[in-house]
Amino acid sequence: MPHPTQPVFDGHNDVLLRLWNRAAAGEDPVAAFIDGTPRGHLDAPRARAGGLIGGLCAIYIPSGDLVLKKADAKGHYATALAAPLARAPSLDIALEMAAIAFRLERAGGWRLCRSTADIRAAAAAGVFAAVLHMEGCEAIGADLAALETFYAAGLRSLGPVWSRNNIFGHGVPFAYPMSPDTGPGLTPAGVELIRACNRLGIVVDLAHITEKGFWDVAGITDQPLVVSHSNAHALTPVARNLTDRQLDAVRESGGLVGLNFATTMLRADGREDARTPLADMVRHIRYLVERMGVAHVALGSDFDGATIPAEISDASGLPALVAALAADGFASGEIAAIRQDNWLRILARAWGETV
Ligand code: ZN
Repeated sequence: MPHPTQPVFDGHNDVLLRLWNRAAAGEDPVAAFIDGTPRGHLDAPRARAGGLIGGLCAIYIPSGDLVLKKADAKGHYATALAAPLARAPSLDIALEMAAIAFRLERAGGWRLCRSTADIRAAAAAGVFAAVLHMEGCEAIGADLAALETFYAAGLRSLGPVWSRNNIFGHGVPFAYPMSPDTGPGLTPAGVELIRACNRLGIVVDLAHITEKGFWDVAGITDQPLVVSHSNAHALTPVARNLTDRQLDAVRESGGLVGLNFATTMLRADGREDARTPLADMVRHIRYLVERMGVAHVALGSDFDGATIPAEISDASGLPALVAALAADGFASGEIAAIRQDNWLRILARAWGETV
């Protein structure tokens, strides 16, 4: 069945975290995705309604101790990094989230995709194309044995760190205003992780890593630089957003940046506020396109992982963003690049497909 709206492939969501939380609350996570619920942002009915054909679905280990700092009168805040996590309990949670992904596939709720041909076939069949991603590698030991296992299970993308430190590297805190240059970068184990990802054909995602870590990866990877869900630091100076120098490096590498819909990363004042207008999303996309070229800009919604603009509300609201881009003067070919084509090109390259 063709999609009624313009198809979108999205670079980052936390639906597995939401479903894992539903399972912990005694609900059926498979039914929650297939039948849909009013909760959160992403499930099969709302993806279909919004033209969302698929996306990178994160295995993410929650930091239970993380309490986001409230902004002061000036709107400034600086949340300390979450504490590092132990590997064994992290691995347990990663396996539980992966199990939800496999059960969903067995039930026909989505298809786990290992190639862009898989993604196109799922889209043609009207089934959500899920790519397994790991956001922070606390579940993986320095011997990388778990990396091999997760790869065999379908893992095709990972961020070495989330916004906390681990054996592979250092993350940026949630802070406004703040530079992303907040500390050290990759560790020696992190260097080995990047090399293994290059060897296996796993995307290395630089969202959440320090600026130093970004440059460390840039210096050793043989892949284009990918930042799945971050925006322009020049417009919203949170530590999670990218400086102009970083954007230039992404362009030079042939990589991409996916627009994060989190209002804290879109608004000039960095506040969490669902009343953030679509214009702020368009403004960031326009800036990224002017700085890097349209071939290097894509979407990374952070559905189920952040407060997003009410005008989008959930996955079914994606056509509103597509319409806003058209209204701002983007040509249909440019919009196609942003909503889907750039991600598919980058994934094909990272996965060693002939393109
Ligand atoms: Zn994230």
